[in-house]
Amino acid sequence: MGRYIGPVCRLCRREGIKLYLKGERCFGPKCPITKRRGAPGQHGQQRTRRPSEYALQLREKQKLKRIYGILERQFRRHFDEAERRPGLTGDNLLQILETRLDNVVYRLGFADSRRQARQLVRHGHFLVNGRKTDIPSYLVRPGDIIAVRPQSREREYFQIVAETAASKPVPSWLVRDLETLSGRVVSLPTRDQIDLPPINTQLVVEWYSRR
Ligand code: SF4
Repeated sequence: MGRYIGPVCRLCRREGIKLYLKGERCFGPKCPITKRRGAPGQHGQQRTRRPSEYALQLREKQKLKRIYGILERQFRRHFDEAERRPGLTGDNLLQILETRLDNVVYRLGFADSRRQARQLVRHGHFLVNGRKTDIPSYLVRPGDIIAVRPQSREREYFQIVAETAASKPVPSWLVRDLETLSGRVVSLPTRDQIDLPPINTQLVVEWYSRR
């Protein structure tokens, strides 16, 4: 599956909010949103009219895609799956995005950003229930154990993670063990357990319902 490889701060500038795509830098003074840089591009600084309903829905969809670093085709696939599940489609969509393996690696504090988590997964550093799993879109389930591969634990990167990750909070639907560099999925995340920039998922649902 493809991924966006352009400049990521540009994506936050487009949405006008921090999407936290770069790890540490997002919390420092160098963040372009903190510096109040406006939308990117030649016409980015122009005043805009009140956005249409179409534009509002589009922006919410783009925000969500960009936060999780997913391109349209795969996002659409997640949306279709969310529609098939019982319950609210918007909440289901968030739950699906949140249980992607790359996101779980990020939430466990084993990577600074979802981008980095995706790369670590791609490079085969993780096991799910003891089996090497290098598919970032793999959806974890309650009871699954996600662990850094024993050979990878020896790497300097993961040794630093073992020493420093304790300061990173873990959501209540996951438990982390830094001794073994692993985590367990306790339950599927509910909406209030998913920490995200403000997103109106109803607008995302409306966007796809029209198409
Ligand atoms: Fe860049 Fe992070 Fe700031 Fe977004 S939040 S503009 S990714 S530094």
